[in-house]
Parts: sequence; structure tokens; C-alpha cells
Amino acid sequence: MSYDALVIAAHPDDAEVQMGGTLAKLASRGLRILLIDLTDGEPTEFADTGVRARQAAEAARILGVERMTLPHRDRLLVDEPGIRLEVARLIREHRPRHVYGTGEACVHPDHAAAASITRAAVFLARLGQWDKVVGAEHLANQPPWALDRLFFPHCKMEPAWSEIAFAVDVSEVYDVKREALAAYGSIFKPTDDRLLTLYEAEDAYFGRLLGVAYAEPFRSASPLLLDDPGVILPAVHG
Ligand SMILES: [Zn+2]
Repeated sequence: MSYDALVIAAHPDDAEVQMGGTLAKLASRGLRILLIDLTDGEPTEFADTGVRARQAAEAARILGVERMTLPHRDRLLVDEPGIRLEVARLIREHRPRHVYGTGEACVHPDHAAAASITRAAVFLARLGQWDKVVGAEHLANQPPWALDRLFFPHCKMEPAWSEIAFAVDVSEVYDVKREALAAYGSIFKPTDDRLLTLYEAEDAYFGRLLGVAYAEPFRSASPLLLDDPGVILPAVHG
């Protein structure tokens, strides 16, 4: 099964918080996207174990993307060779053009581990000769895969970035992002949730900088290359 993009995150809800509008927009344009949660995000504050999985499935349905959850331990996620190889295998299996990781400098250790794991797995996925690496021979039965781009949405537990590579105008799909986040009743309160207020404020802040209602910021692992600068949308400050 091939996907246009993979999104690799520590917990169910991270992808929705960081880039839910972008996911809704890309899915509405027909792109096939797979979210990979490295842990199940359990336990949660407001629900019994197992509830978050159902909410995550519902959030993916709302956004129009697919989702899988790996069985690593929430709170204790670590970057180690086994999980790097596991994620590299998924990249080789699904052959995405783009991978979205988690932005670095993360206060949550699981987010920091996810960022590091993703960078490593993207690199390992494009290498050959795995039959000569002890303990990693199983990668030799897949062809290498080099993706086009590794992007990082902003981890909203961190202060807003002062420099970004680009932002996506998500104004027209912002209600879809709100609906996907509202599916996580195990994480967020139904009204006046402090975190949801913070997340939406950041999207509105970047939107205001760029002259739209809401925008999600991204960094890129490598400089952006354009055939024609004219494809870039105008912004209020030129
Ligand atoms: Zn998280």
C-alpha cells in the first residue's frame, strides 16, 4: 500500500494538534495519508484505557486520513535501533513522497524521541546492504526508499517559532480541525479547555502574520526548491 505522506508522531492527537488543518486540506484534495502513532497515548486524564483509541479512529475519519498505532510505551518512548528499523520498514513499505515528523526542542520526552526516531528512520530507509548488518537483515527484503521531503510541524507545547520554512493556509478547513480535536474527550475538556485555546491561538497568530484567518507553520529538513517563485501565495508583509 502506498501513501502520498506519512505523519509520524508520539501520541494519538499530536498530528491533529500540530497539522490537523493541513491534513484535512490534503485529504480533501485526494492525497492518501497515513498517521503513525508510536504509542497509544495511555493512560489519559479523563477516560479509561482504550477510549483514546476509539477517539483517535474517529479523529482520523473526520480528517479523511488513515491511522495505525505502534505498541511502544507512552511516557517512556526512547530512540533506539529497533524502533528506528521498525519505522524505516514502514517508510519502505508505504513509499511516501513526504514524511512529517515532530518539531524538535520538545519539552515532552516522547515528542523529542519521536523527532529523533523519524529523522533516523528517513535516512535508514534509503540505505541498501542491510543483509550485512547484524540484527537488521529483515530490511534487505524491501527496496530502499528515498522520500522527497521531510517536514516538521510545530510542537504546540513549545513557544511559537520565530522562523519557519512555510505555512499552510487552513482557514477553509479550520472547523474540520476543531471537530477532529473535539473527538478527544479523553484529553480535552468540552468547553474552555486551556490547551485547545492555546493551540487555536497559535494557528490564528500565524494566520494573522500572513493575512489569513488560520495557518499552520512548518520547518523543513532541507531548503525548499522552487521552479517558479510565482507559485507562492502573497502575504501581507510581502
Ligand atoms: Zn503528544
